[in-house]
Amino acid sequence: MPWLGLGVFQVADGDEVIRSVQYALEAGYRSIDTAAGYRNEAGVGAAIQQSGIPREQLFITTKLANSDQGYESTLRAFEESRRKLGLEYIDLYLIHWPGKDKYKDTWRAFEKLQKDGYIRSIGVSNFQIHHLESLKQDSDTIPAVNQVEFHPLLNQQELRQYCKRGGIQLEAWTPIMKGNLDLPQLTELAAKHGKTPAQIVLRWDLQHGVVTIPKSVRQERIQENAGIFDFTLSDEDMKLIDQMNQNHRFGPDPDQLLF
Ligand code: NDP
Repeated sequence: MPWLGLGVFQVADGDEVIRSVQYALEAGYRSIDTAAGYRNEAGVGAAIQQSGIPREQLFITTKLANSDQGYESTLRAFEESRRKLGLEYIDLYLIHWPGKDKYKDTWRAFEKLQKDGYIRSIGVSNFQIHHLESLKQDSDTIPAVNQVEFHPLLNQQELRQYCKRGGIQLEAWTPIMKGNLDLPQLTELAAKHGKTPAQIVLRWDLQHGVVTIPKSVRQERIQENAGIFDFTLSDEDMKLIDQMNQNHRFGPDPDQLLF
């Protein structure tokens, strides 16, 4: 999967999401991260269609809404997402949040959809180590991806190492901390490399082997966030950012969101 994608959480369906996806595709992004819960899959699909970019060059992720967990309901919800996106297949389908006790049934439906050829890769989001361990007891299919909150203030060291050992690709949500980038370590490194704080953080993701999906609706920021492949952070730079960890979440704790 591409190392960089565009996130579209809290982007309005219709013109706003269509424009954002267009800006991203023009800037060279080929990966888009949406979800049933974002209610903008139709706009994402429209932008893809309008772009004329061959389908096989794109990597489209969507996620199952919490309320649709369960075997039959997953099959139905997936079909609805696929219809809204206007796609024959989805590249990556994720269980959006583990919730309490339905994710194993949900996972069986994911396995079926993948076997039937509708999804290239299946994965999870917001899974903690204990969720992944529990899933492993019931299924031989390893999630391709675990998409979790990940940024300098929450660097998920333990989960990152667990996923790496287990062959699960970690993907960062809220990678640029919702734009809260005015932190001295980041401004210092930005000045040193002639880059912006957002680019420093996104580069740190890549060098940790973490896929990243910053969101913006503005063309200049979408372009800025893609400018991360032409410089390298030194080991000391990486360490400086690693030391910023505070286990601080901007979003919900997966163990508390039991819907
Ligand atoms: P981000 O960390 O990507 O931050 C987005 C915010 O930062 C927006 O307010 C944006 O404003 C601003 N911004 C964007 N680029 C820059 C820049 N270069 N400099 C300064 N500010 C900037 O937050 P998200 O929560 O959106 O996370 C990214 C994606 O991750 C989501 O869109 C979604 O796809 C996914 N996600 C997944 C979750 C899950 O549970 N699996 C949960 C949350 C997110 P503006 O748009 O005005 O530019």
